[in-house]
Amino acid sequence: MVDDARLAIDGARIEAELAHLATFTEAPPPAVTRVLWTPIDLAGRAFVRSLLEAEGLAIRTDAIGTIFARWEGTIAALAPVGSGSHVDAIPNAGRYDGCYGVIGAIEAVRALRRTGFVPRRPIEVVIFASEEPTRFGVGCVGSRLMTGALSPDAARQLRDADGVSFEAARAGAGHAGDLESVRLAPGAYAGFVELHIEQGPVLERLGIPVGIVTAIAAPTTLRVTVHGEGGHAGALLMPDRRDALAAAAEVVLAVEAAARASGAADTVATVGQLAVFPGAVNGVPSRVDLSVDARDVDGARRDATVARIRDAMRGVAARRQVGIDVEVVTDDPPATMDPTLVEVLAMAAGEAGVVSHRLPSRAYHDSLFMPRVCPTAMVFVPCRGGVSHRPDEFASEADMAAGVRVLAHALARLAS
Ligand SMILES: [Zn+2]
Repeated sequence: MVDDARLAIDGARIEAELAHLATFTEAPPPAVTRVLWTPIDLAGRAFVRSLLEAEGLAIRTDAIGTIFARWEGTIAALAPVGSGSHVDAIPNAGRYDGCYGVIGAIEAVRALRRTGFVPRRPIEVVIFASEEPTRFGVGCVGSRLMTGALSPDAARQLRDADGVSFEAARAGAGHAGDLESVRLAPGAYAGFVELHIEQGPVLERLGIPVGIVTAIAAPTTLRVTVHGEGGHAGALLMPDRRDALAAAAEVVLAVEAAARASGAADTVATVGQLAVFPGAVNGVPSRVDLSVDARDVDGARRDATVARIRDAMRGVAARRQVGIDVEVVTDDPPATMDPTLVEVLAMAAGEAGVVSHRLPSRAYHDSLFMPRVCPTAMVFVPCRGGVSHRPDEFASEADMAAGVRVLAHALARLAS
């Protein structure tokens, strides 16, 4: 534990380092585009690494480029406490998503060191390699490989939009070693805490600077193809029609109805993509491709929603004599944050003199996967308008400093 009066968090330095990290971008500022293993991504990571080296931390990089920077504890054999996030950014993103959790973890370590705190357990800052799905279409490749949620063989099958394989891209970035070696042992960390902007409006609306995450929602994503029969819009008479778009329209409404039927505000389901073939004003649609994204913080309730959607699709297919193919693209279970860590964060907020609020995370993070190997929790800070993944993403120095203060107290408790 650490005396709060001696804990000096430098909000201006956090903002300055985030601003510098944002200069590593393919898009014109203030937009940030930093795609996995591109020269820009590697340069940004080198900058972060220089901050860790300046603290004299022991740095290890795994076979895909995830950085682990260790502040040794007095009992080196104890499992470390971890904190960190990602620095890759989707096209035209902002400077805070992920990066705040990285720079914030570094500042928490710096602030603890300035107080003279001596950890019993090691403390590690973790900079995940590949959180955003931009390059290979799968999010959290780093933490999935670390926790066994993605097999090395499945990773080897991945290709980017230019046909470059995961392995070729990895070698191109200078990362060597077996993909198998990325996997962490269960219990690799005594606890892991990720700091992040909320990416939603709740904390700002409440005027509360720190959120303690209780659960992380996860999507089931379906790729759906409706097969009907095309024909001339004038000649094909109504009794003979098997219109793929009319059937798809019923599917869209069934997706909405299935989420509403759960009765829980945390259940959401969306059709965000719909492609009609042949797409002619005078052609009866023969085929429709659409996507379904169903999310919840409760896995059983989300699965029940997906089951209702599948039932409805079977009904539509039978009634309208169309074929409906469903492919499951992702189906990760939601994660509950570790109750003990959640209580530690609540105590840390108390020590920091910061008002906090418990809430679920509706976006997913590397912390969706970390619970597979260690107790995990997250700290949120507000972002203006709830806006994220946009160049105008913004979090204030004061809120960011409050989040780091809570994180520092939590790390001190966990490492003592
Ligand atoms: Zn993020």
